[in-house]
Amino acid sequence: MSEVNVPVFCCWNGCIKDGTNGIYYEGSNYRMTTVKGKTKFNELLDHLYQVTGLDRKRSKFGIIGRYPTDIQAFRVKYKPLPVVDDTSLETMLEITTKHPYIKDIDLYLEVESTSVGVIDPATCSSPSDILGGSSKRQKTDIHVKLERETDRNSESDGVVHLVDSSTLNKDSISGHVSKPCMSSLWLDDHDLRVGLCFKDGDELKKAVDWCSLKAQQKCVVRETAKDEYIFECIRWKCKWSLGAARMKKHGLVEIIKYTGPHTCHPIVPEDFKSEFETDEIERAVRYMPTQTISELKKWWKKKIGYELETSDVRLAKEKAIKRVFGDWDQSFEDFPKLMSALCSSNGLLVDWKYDLFPNPNFASFCGVFWAFPQSIEGFQHCRPLIVVDTKNLNCEYQLKLMIASGVDAANKYFPLAFAVTKEVSTDIWRWFLTGIREKVTQRKGLCLISSPHPDIIAVVNESGSQWQEPWAYHRFSLNHFYSQFSRVFPSFCLGARIRRAGSTSQKDEFVSYMNDIKEKNPEARKWLDQFPQNRWALAHDNGRRYGIMEINTKALFAVCNAFEQAGHVVTGSVLLLFDELRSKFDKSFSCSRSSLNCGDVYTEPVMDKLEEFRTTFVTYSYIVTPLDNNAFQVATALDKGECIVQLSDCSCTCGDFQRYKFPCLHALAVCKKLKFNPLQYVDDCYTLERLKRTYATIFSHVPEMSAWPEASGVPRLLPPVIPPSPPPSPPTYVSGTKCRTTPLATKKKS
Ligand SMILES: [Zn+2]
Ligand SMILES: [Zn+2]
Repeated sequence: MSEVNVPVFCCWNGCIKDGTNGIYYEGSNYRMTTVKGKTKFNELLDHLYQVTGLDRKRSKFGIIGRYPTDIQAFRVKYKPLPVVDDTSLETMLEITTKHPYIKDIDLYLEVESTSVGVIDPATCSSPSDILGGSSKRQKTDIHVKLERETDRNSESDGVVHLVDSSTLNKDSISGHVSKPCMSSLWLDDHDLRVGLCFKDGDELKKAVDWCSLKAQQKCVVRETAKDEYIFECIRWKCKWSLGAARMKKHGLVEIIKYTGPHTCHPIVPEDFKSEFETDEIERAVRYMPTQTISELKKWWKKKIGYELETSDVRLAKEKAIKRVFGDWDQSFEDFPKLMSALCSSNGLLVDWKYDLFPNPNFASFCGVFWAFPQSIEGFQHCRPLIVVDTKNLNCEYQLKLMIASGVDAANKYFPLAFAVTKEVSTDIWRWFLTGIREKVTQRKGLCLISSPHPDIIAVVNESGSQWQEPWAYHRFSLNHFYSQFSRVFPSFCLGARIRRAGSTSQKDEFVSYMNDIKEKNPEARKWLDQFPQNRWALAHDNGRRYGIMEINTKALFAVCNAFEQAGHVVTGSVLLLFDELRSKFDKSFSCSRSSLNCGDVYTEPVMDKLEEFRTTFVTYSYIVTPLDNNAFQVATALDKGECIVQLSDCSCTCGDFQRYKFPCLHALAVCKKLKFNPLQYVDDCYTLERLKRTYATIFSHVPEMSAWPEASGVPRLLPPVIPPSPPPSPPTYVSGTKCRTTPLATKKKS
């Protein structure tokens, strides 16, 4: 082979194209020359500088050989072979020997100017230094330039292109002009990387899809502008991403940004969907934790395209809240920020209670009171009645939850104010009840229903309290009263009498039960006598309770369900409470509005009574006898007793008329007899219009978490100090009102 001369066809100042027979050159400069079959790479470079007349001080070049592959009878396909060293040169020079019908070899020169480069060719010891003396430098600096014809056939006939193995590094030589590095369709051994070029977006997508499929990962693509693509792993915790755009300099779609590899686990197909849903919802919750279930559902439908079940979204959201706000200690720190976000967006009224540390930037949490102006606004349309109660939260810090609720036109609890505290005491009840008077309602004649706990009684009876007559009428929940009694007198028989005495509306019946109790146990009677009878006995209530004798604790705290769930910390629970409250408002508003639109006027309790009368009227025959003073005696064939109805007083001796403030069956019988419209005796608090107004105020959008304002005026809160461990220092008691006390102008639903 030593004697063999190989004809060499050199081309430069043009570009490599891809056609049906593989690569070819289209350009302005050509030279024919011959080299010895055993020429070394350095010698070739010297020779080519002579042949081409290029200035080695001002330019350098990479060499691409046109190498025949896929040789069939009458057809040869050529692929680019970078000539970078003696071995690759030898491969090229052997072509004419191996394939006698090929008469010469083609070398395409990629010329680059080095006049602005940091490497001065004059200082280089050999020409190979310019191209990169080490293999690393060669990899860095040699680029294959390859363009494809817009010939669909060439793509579909399975032509395989050689790929340059270089890694583009734009910083290796400053002033370096990057050359496109064309990807083949076959990416088995080549990772996606910056600098890799594709004919178009479709080809790029196919390449990325194939890589993802092989690695069992999934990504989505966004076309951010024309011919600009961002691929991201669908698992948002994984930072894998790829950006590509069509570059003006070569007209190809080039990868310009790549962050990899995937940090997510490969996807197991059967678990994928639920994992994906949970992850995605967590992402949304992290971004905007106040999104409602229905907002999340809508977002999902729009983004992914299919509907999620409400229960699935609820579960996923709860899980996400647990993960995002799962840490108790962190929770006390986050809490003021959440409240301040709710304050600035929805006008939330907040009052913090904490013990300052010697360093006043820190404090331990004692309690927080909050009320939404939406509730305060709605309460104006409810009957003048408030129920308060408290419950222990089964959590690390033994926190207590307090609630104040009104009752809406449909006899459902209407949440008004909340507090979370580290303990419940006289002080705390004073703070809570004063908070309601200062922030929630100044209404006169309120009925306050609570347990007969000594702390509450003490606060209500304090001088100057706004919870005494005529401002308020304190009443006990009969079930709480009964259980307090039972703790002192565990007799079942006595307990049953207490219940009957408390719930009868007949004064004489009440008296007889009380005498009975005195006879059975004088001590029990003495115990009862320490409380005014109007506190617990319906017969002495004077219509303040609207018939509400007991607190249904489960229903009262239903809106606070999140506080009960294991794993929820206080911040997460308040977030979920906000959710519940909003959906309660939305649901009740739309229900009452549609009932109104259907022509209904009154809520269920009244409608049920009218219906009861309509059905019993057929079976009972009511005998209505006029008495003196516009009173009527009503008797039925079935009832032994008879009742006296006084329409002008809205009263009946059965007690129900006064109790519920709408006509009892007897009063309805009188109305029917007199052809009076019974609705004039129904209290306005039962109208659907009032129900609608109660829930008419809209909650405002809370911005994403990153936009939450810092809580001003609240020190950094640490978890409450739980007795018996002594506090770190003698605490300074501070109670502060940190948010505006005037509600924001609230928006109404239409
Ligand atoms: Zn990933
Ligand atoms: Zn009656």
